[in-house]
Amino acid sequence: RHLPYFCRGEVVKGFGRGSKELGIPTANFSEQVVESFPSDISTGIYYGWACVGNGDVHKMVLSIGWNPFYKNIKKSVETHIIDTFKGDFYGEILSIVILGYIRSEKNFSSLEALISAIQEDIEEAKRQLDLPEHLKLKEDNFFRLPE
Ligand code: ADP
Ligand code: MG
Repeated sequence: RHLPYFCRGEVVKGFGRGSKELGIPTANFSEQVVESFPSDISTGIYYGWACVGNGDVHKMVLSIGWNPFYKNIKKSVETHIIDTFKGDFYGEILSIVILGYIRSEKNFSSLEALISAIQEDIEEAKRQLDLPEHLKLKEDNFFRLPE
């Protein structure tokens, strides 16, 4: 109902959940950005497009979940960009458009199960984003505006 959802904001330090150690770093949005999200948007995994600063637009998967750091009373919004970056980009402006929902949040019995679920999410995101209706958003002026 809220999709497509356009959003832009600063990338901040996360909570050391070790996403990077899993090979799946997630760029966390600042609290201010998260607060601006529709409160009734479902938690779970989404796909869409993302760009850092004035950089290229990439496929992404996004998690909207409850933030354990704030005793699960605040949400966290984390974007995994489906590409390799030279280094970190904390403090930079991340622009995203959220296009579709993949699944709800789940608890996994093992790290292997978690990682393979995320790999499947990434494959699903890649397939969905190749559809013409989703591909056209990659060229949206939203990603071309000066900061
Ligand atoms: P944190 O807990 O601080 O969010 P992560 O392990 O989740 O740490 O790593 C996230 C950081 O990694 C991002 O803020 C960004 O600076 C960097 N990064 C590098 N490559 C990517 C990528 N492909 N997608 C998202 N973040 C990336
Ligand atoms: Mg993170």
